[in-house]
Amino acid sequence: MLSAKEKEWREERLARIKKWEEDCPWEDFIDDDNISKIIEEKKNPDKKEILEIVSKAKENALTGAMLSPEEVGALTNVQDPELWEAIFEAANWIKCKVYGNRIVLFSPLYISSPCVNNCAYCGFRHSNKEVHTKTLTMEELEEEIKVLTGMGQKRLIVVYGEHPASDYKFMCKTIEKIYSIKNGKGEIRRVNVNAPPLFVDEYEAVKAVGIGTYQVFQETYHHPTYHKMHPANTLKGQYKWRQFALHRALQAGIDDVAIGALFGLYDWRFELLGLLYHAMSLEKEFGVGSHTISYPRLEHAVNTPITSNSPYLVDDEDFKKIVAIIRLMCPYTGSILTAREAPALRRDLIQKGGISQMDAGTRIAVGGYAEMKKEHIPDKQQFLIQDTRSLDDFIYDLCKDGYLPSFCTACYREGRTGDNFMPLAKHATVKNFCIGNGILTFKEYLLDYASPRVKEIGEKVIIPNYLKWLDEHVPQAAKQVKELLQKEEAGERDQHL
Ligand code: SAM
Ligand code: SF4
Repeated sequence: MLSAKEKEWREERLARIKKWEEDCPWEDFIDDDNISKIIEEKKNPDKKEILEIVSKAKENALTGAMLSPEEVGALTNVQDPELWEAIFEAANWIKCKVYGNRIVLFSPLYISSPCVNNCAYCGFRHSNKEVHTKTLTMEELEEEIKVLTGMGQKRLIVVYGEHPASDYKFMCKTIEKIYSIKNGKGEIRRVNVNAPPLFVDEYEAVKAVGIGTYQVFQETYHHPTYHKMHPANTLKGQYKWRQFALHRALQAGIDDVAIGALFGLYDWRFELLGLLYHAMSLEKEFGVGSHTISYPRLEHAVNTPITSNSPYLVDDEDFKKIVAIIRLMCPYTGSILTAREAPALRRDLIQKGGISQMDAGTRIAVGGYAEMKKEHIPDKQQFLIQDTRSLDDFIYDLCKDGYLPSFCTACYREGRTGDNFMPLAKHATVKNFCIGNGILTFKEYLLDYASPRVKEIGEKVIIPNYLKWLDEHVPQAAKQVKELLQKEEAGERDQHL
């Protein structure tokens, strides 16, 4: 049961949301029947057609164009394992072409879990009495940030439930606090947000405290499933309000927005097309697509049966297909693979899925970093994660496979966001910044935080290899990076292109 205060807050907000939906200036871009029809009509695509789509996706990496819904529909129906290998290869090729062979690292930070909603799949849903929800105090928040910056993290995604205690004003206060904390040479330089949809004036306030990307996942684009998962009398039950959450964010001047779907609630093929239509709508209305795409997969949560009995649960083989198709359909977008997935699958997908961002050293209980030794605190978590490796172990594994770990936050701080960033990603030139800044931020990690084995492989193999790449491809940037590396050796920090 909601308290009187929670109920009052929800009712007042729900009335405003319904009013907004009545006046909504945009048309619903999801036509359920049409999406199902495309998937059906594209059953049994022939080999030639698929190979043409794969070539087109590679060409698109240089122009920023997306595949069409019909082309994505055809990819979702491929059966031939050889063709899948061609798709995986293309995903990796596109990722390297656009961003280079680096992986940007971040941590999620759960700040509050109380929530007035009742999403069927979420451990934090209001009616779940077996999970204890909590909102961090400012002191607890500081403690979490000290642990995160003490590990070497520079980028966060902060996560909030939908509740009067964690409204937009609380979000602003906590984000300002995070930016203010210094821990020796450590600091958080970019705070991205995963939080409930806001009104335009509320987004403006959140933008003013200097956030990076605002993420809102539609969860499922399929209208009947959406209504099944999210009760009608809840704030999250309002499909259109959520569907246009990021349109409002862009209206409010937030530069970078991020979409996602929770895979396992409905047919994964449908959700892929939903994501594509969402990116197309952002592109059409604002000229910038989605800065990143996330594809969380349903994980077990305490007292949440749907997480194990949904008829649409996605197995590893289909999950790999989802990740690769996202890279082909939307070549310019950042692709985020989280610690929900197991280490072996994550490793496989870096190579086959064209991933560009990953979290590492992750804890998702509210206050979980202060209790770092506990990998899970199930009755305080929204769901369970599978990759609990430490940040340093994760980085070592990346280095062994030859990737460049990056803590880069440069584009955002140099004003390369929104329509200043997109042309770089769309014309595959952003890697010229990514590799240089990856080297500079990895060097900081090596100087300040790395274990001896990471220091060794980093200094002897990774940094020289990527400097060589820069020398060969962007000699001007290579010269600059070498000068900045010397400054870092001398004690300076936060050097970037
Ligand atoms: N409360 C905000 C909202 O709903 O927009 C923040 C989102 S929630 C804390 C972060 C995301 O986790 C959700 O958008 C959903 O996609 C995902 N999620 C929820 N339950 C999950 C589960 N059981 N397994 C995996 N991911 C889940
Ligand atoms: Fe609340 Fe978000 Fe969980 Fe839904 S997914 S119950 S809105 S925290």
